[in-house]
Amino acid sequence: MSVANRLYEELHQPEYTGENRCTPCTVTNLLITAVVTAGLAVVQPIAAAAFALLGVAAIALRGYLVPGTPTLTKRYFPPWLLSLFGKEPAGVTDAPAYEGDVDPETYLLENDIITETHSGEDLELVDGFWATWSAAIEDAKNNTEREVGELLELDDPKVNPGGEIEPAEAGGCTVYDGDVRVANWPSEAALIADLGAIDALATHGVDVDAMDRADAGQLLAGLRVFAEQCPDCGGGMALGEDTVESCCSVAEVFTYDCEDCGTRVMEIQAA
Ligand SMILES: [Zn+2]
Repeated sequence: MSVANRLYEELHQPEYTGENRCTPCTVTNLLITAVVTAGLAVVQPIAAAAFALLGVAAIALRGYLVPGTPTLTKRYFPPWLLSLFGKEPAGVTDAPAYEGDVDPETYLLENDIITETHSGEDLELVDGFWATWSAAIEDAKNNTEREVGELLELDDPKVNPGGEIEPAEAGGCTVYDGDVRVANWPSEAALIADLGAIDALATHGVDVDAMDRADAGQLLAGLRVFAEQCPDCGGGMALGEDTVESCCSVAEVFTYDCEDCGTRVMEIQAA
């Protein structure tokens, strides 16, 4: 094996390139390379050229330039950013693709629901919000059908009623009005997180009921990745990636799962 080949083997990271290449990561890294190159060019044209070459080579071989960008943060790869790449949250409801104008990150920041972390690299709930939200989640656990019935204005709300009618996907949560399927959540935990969030947001001056249905859905799904504990078991939550297979397709998804019980609170298509 030649030196060049060995170097290629050494540096090449198939998990982030080829089929596995993440478009948002690649675009973000190319943009970062361009900005740094432009900055360097002003003071050090030769260093700038070298940096541009190395940067593009690293992105081509390794899939990224900035170490850690494949590590997901709520700041850089939340649904509202992915939507810029034409991606829509999957598995939230069967509602048509979101075309509203609420940008959850901006909206939640402006309404003091989330804030930057100390490092400025990520986002988190403001102090006290999780306490209010988690208490509301406990309430929603005991009144799930009544609360979702009020939210969706259903006459005969049923959550995963079983029997003849099965949830759309394993682990998913399907809400019926009588025997008519009306909405899906990735899990019952996601549903109770949303029901609790509506009450918690109300105490912080955000009236979800008054919002357009699609806007409300986008806002609640965006907020869900800030849940600090599993709505089901109280376990720790983590962002991750997964491959989801359905009858006719395989999709890469970004996920927000409980590290203890595995409940999926959020899932969004990555490619
Ligand atoms: Zn859990």
